[in-house]
Amino acid sequence: MMGFRDIIGQEQIIASLKNAVFSAKAAHAYIFDGEKGMGKRTLAYAFARALLCEAPPGERMDSGACGCCHSCIMAESGSHPDIITLVPEKESSIGVDDIRSQVVNDVAIKPYCSERKIYIIPDANLMTEAAENALLKTLEEPPAYTVIILLSENKDRLLPTILSRAVCLPMRALSNEAISDYLVKKGLPEKDNAAVVSFARGNLGKAVMLSESEEFKELLGNIRRTVTGVRDMTDTDINAAAAEAAEKKEERDNILSFLLLWFRDVLFLKAGGDEDRLIFRDEVRELNKAAGNYSFEKINRIIQEIKTARSRLKSNVNAENTFEMLFMMMR
Ligand SMILES: [Zn+2]
Repeated sequence: MMGFRDIIGQEQIIASLKNAVFSAKAAHAYIFDGEKGMGKRTLAYAFARALLCEAPPGERMDSGACGCCHSCIMAESGSHPDIITLVPEKESSIGVDDIRSQVVNDVAIKPYCSERKIYIIPDANLMTEAAENALLKTLEEPPAYTVIILLSENKDRLLPTILSRAVCLPMRALSNEAISDYLVKKGLPEKDNAAVVSFARGNLGKAVMLSESEEFKELLGNIRRTVTGVRDMTDTDINAAAAEAAEKKEERDNILSFLLLWFRDVLFLKAGGDEDRLIFRDEVRELNKAAGNYSFEKINRIIQEIKTARSRLKSNVNAENTFEMLFMMMR
């Protein structure tokens, strides 16, 4: 059974949630805030199970719940009647009807078989203002047994009145070492590890997703080929590479991140940095070649240009032209 002990990192949040469970002083509303992949859902279910577990604290160990009482078994099978996960009608937003029918009108009904009733609202930042106002009424006067957990990717999108009535727990970015250790334990070859860790920026879920993604591997392969071969490219080659880089909107930023990390490594090597501390340790030959080919000034200008490209792409300029200019400059 997944419990607190299965969650990597987030020690502070877990400590405060455990404290709420074992002191029997849970708040009526929580906001778990952090980007997708940070483990908000896992944490919410672990907390819900721990709150509803029937075993005395001494028998629960590190997971927060015993794993074998009636409540834990129901929770494990996803059929606990007192753990309610909101499922909105539409995918893109949570409307007032969703909140009314699944939360507001439901809270008055006493827990089915526990001392508490837990509501989990994923993607709470997608609530419409009307939905938030409907929820607010419940948050203002909740029945004693309710605990509402809002999972949010950006708490600033929530009404201040909601924020003021909930305990907000921001998910913390994990250290690169923690993510790297986890990936190694999962059996990911070290070769791709460094790039995945750098791209994940402290988000374990994202790291796992990237490490399993064939698309990401292909993307890395393509951009690697461009960056190492750019000096021999013809104009036609550059056009083709730019078109390819611009093709998938959601991958453009990843490509720029790769280039940025790559040229930082080149700069680091050129400045006499230790090879063991490179991000792309396995590419040291190519990096050394680049360090020999480019001047300090040129590398700095390329790095600057990559940053400019990133802000240009955010303002929706022609992506193909942006990549073309960048690749020309690298050539
Ligand atoms: Zn239990």
